[in-house]
Amino acid sequence: MIALLLLTTSLAVQQQDTISPAARRVLADVRFLAADSQEGRGVGTAGLTRSGAYIRESFARAGLQASFQDFTISPDAPAVLHTNLGGSATRNVVAVIPGTSKTLKGEVVVVGAHYDHLGMGGFGALDTTTAVHNGADDNASGTAALLEIGRSLAQRRPRPARTIVLVAFSGEELGTLGSSYFVQHPLPQPIDSLYAMLNLDMVGRLRNARLMALGAATAKEFPSLLDSVNTPARFDLRASGDGWGPSDHAVFFATRHPVLHFFTDLHEDYHRATDDWDKLNIGGIAQVAQFVSDLAFALANRTGPLTFVDAPRPQASTGGSGYGAYLGTIPDMSGGVSDGVRISGVRAGSPAEGAGLQAGDVITAIGDKRIANLYDMTDALRAHQPGDTVVIVSRRDGVERRATAVLGRRSS
Ligand SMILES: [Zn+2]
Repeated sequence: MIALLLLTTSLAVQQQDTISPAARRVLADVRFLAADSQEGRGVGTAGLTRSGAYIRESFARAGLQASFQDFTISPDAPAVLHTNLGGSATRNVVAVIPGTSKTLKGEVVVVGAHYDHLGMGGFGALDTTTAVHNGADDNASGTAALLEIGRSLAQRRPRPARTIVLVAFSGEELGTLGSSYFVQHPLPQPIDSLYAMLNLDMVGRLRNARLMALGAATAKEFPSLLDSVNTPARFDLRASGDGWGPSDHAVFFATRHPVLHFFTDLHEDYHRATDDWDKLNIGGIAQVAQFVSDLAFALANRTGPLTFVDAPRPQASTGGSGYGAYLGTIPDMSGGVSDGVRISGVRAGSPAEGAGLQAGDVITAIGDKRIANLYDMTDALRAHQPGDTVVIVSRRDGVERRATAVLGRRSS
């Protein structure tokens, strides 16, 4: 454990000595955003307010028109039932690169990343630690990439034909609240003029150059466009899927527009207090930023429309808003399981405890959904309501077990 920690620390230090100017800027941004002083960028904290000001200042320094879009956390938001955040003021940060084509500047390419995170843990966290949850990958990484995209696009000549709008969203961890507010109050054009939305959420753990472009099936033209920007091959690009998913792009997809979600995959620190900046692949974030900047520019200059491809909303899913039901398992992140989620324990009094689950069990299905990884498990729980009775299939010492659990309600 300690040796591993030393290794990652020395890697991060090594990164500082050898990195490109873009990566150096990314490093400064993630170190600021994911510092303890930012209080885990929880909605309602001074740290989140400071982070918002930092983002606006960075956009302005890049020469972009930047502004705040203030909104209030609705007391009716599902997540607010579990927190005391109803009525809290928060803000998106918006920067605009006006299009130059008379006929196309009314169309908008939105590039977005949420900058809020879980604060001190509790609601939405996968651990039970009350500590600053820095959210370095989730989503200081995407926010830093967004800032770098802003710097890169501000320099680009000729200017883009379509308008490009960069948005740092708040309230994502409470159920995509900032992006929902944005699609109802878009700047500077109504959402009907949206051409495409590109979302960066968790792009800080690039491994083996593998970058996921989820939502690639939402426009017929996306796969070939992605390939054309990925030359020479910078990434092992995994482009697939519809536009539903647990992040801000789903809100835009719900308005029937093409979306892409860039993602470097889940890891053992996801939604835990250990998601820290020294575990990030800083050069990888800079590479993703350059790629998405090039893609946004290509989209902004493309002739002709994109062919939107719709998909049904996953059954009973809330499409990214809300966290669904509560089981009360504590995932074991030490690895070694590729066909399920091993748990390191259950919370006292939880539905998981009631179902007889215990440390070491590997959960392989919840209801009719097969569980291969933590992402599946999050999806499965989001697809259920508190009070639902589900069968939990698990494996203990190689023997399959089935138990029923009555799912509960999450609380902070
Ligand atoms: Zn998150």
